Amino acid sequence: MSSKRDYYEVLGVQKDATADEIKAQYRKLALKFHPDRNKTAEAAEHFKEISEAYAVVSDGKKRKIYDRHGHAGVDGRYTTEDIFQGASGNFNDVFADLFGRRGGGGGFESVFETFMGQGGGRGGPGRPRGRDMLCETTVTLEDVLHGKRVEFDHKGAVACEACGSTGCAPGSTKIRCKGCGGSGQVRAQRRMGFASFVTVGACRDCGGQGRVVEKPCRDCGGRGVRKGKRRIEFGLPPGIDDGEYTMPGRGEIAPGGINGDLIVRVAVEPHRHFRRDGRNIFCDKHVTMVEAALGAEVRVPTLEGEEDVRIAAGTQPNHLAKLGGMGVPKRGYGGRGDQYVRIVVDVPKKLSKRQKALLDEFAKAG
Ligand SMILES: [Zn+2]
Ligand SMILES: [Zn+2]
Repeated sequence: MSSKRDYYEVLGVQKDATADEIKAQYRKLALKFHPDRNKTAEAAEHFKEISEAYAVVSDGKKRKIYDRHGHAGVDGRYTTEDIFQGASGNFNDVFADLFGRRGGGGGFESVFETFMGQGGGRGGPGRPRGRDMLCETTVTLEDVLHGKRVEFDHKGAVACEACGSTGCAPGSTKIRCKGCGGSGQVRAQRRMGFASFVTVGACRDCGGQGRVVEKPCRDCGGRGVRKGKRRIEFGLPPGIDDGEYTMPGRGEIAPGGINGDLIVRVAVEPHRHFRRDGRNIFCDKHVTMVEAALGAEVRVPTLEGEEDVRIAAGTQPNHLAKLGGMGVPKRGYGGRGDQYVRIVVDVPKKLSKRQKALLDEFAKAG
């Protein structure tokens, strides 16, 4: 019944393509066929096709299943929702770059909604979804350069150890759901003229799992989670900027459902030396008028300690000296920006008699 094309063929990549090659290729195709950019009906269809292919082959585990068992293997194991939800991070990666959507929540959401059509919101009918969690953190410019590891303890729902978060009392297991006969899905048929549409949604009774708890675990009441403390850690990549970043599935735990997202609100702290503008950083360096006139070697701060910089003879006030590649990286771009040092020429406010005499002499010589 399946007339689906081969995922690799759809994406136009080799079977042994690397994750980066696949990402680059999807990015290229998404740019061409995304409904925001291409309004034709064929484009929308094609966008769905490439997005499904990317959702599967960008996920190591699903890709393996697909390589071994083909479409039947993937479709038999995952709902469409599972496929997309599981790859949400991969989509966000692509769309954050592509459309400048920070965190990419909009990116993934838009793919998913395009695919599921109207009313195909995430979570689906009856499927539990954990709440999103907000984490606020500050970073220094040095963190922007190197990236930063963030760790904290969160009080809230943790996986129940007594039952391994299955929700089942010891000795018991989950049994087949009566509501859906164990498929986890309920189908509804809708007729429109000559066409009929079949929509598939998750079963409310079992939350799409196909199985329900027979005897609830006493520790968690069958929910699979209990109150406790959970260690949350993640890495902020180099090039981070002010704003919100979404980590799909890292929020509140929802056993048998979809974990909430962790939303990380980042603020970059002001730096004692530098002002940042995108990838570039700026600082001031004061020199004497003699140094400016005669040239000098001066020490300037960088993000990695101090550095000697040569000031040419005849340097003018407010001259910008460039230290190439000493700025910060920016996500989605290679390399680092530059550091600019503004030369501030200090004119002495007080002169000794001798200095004044010498300057008078100097003026006469000019
Ligand atoms: Zn339990
Ligand atoms: Zn069910």
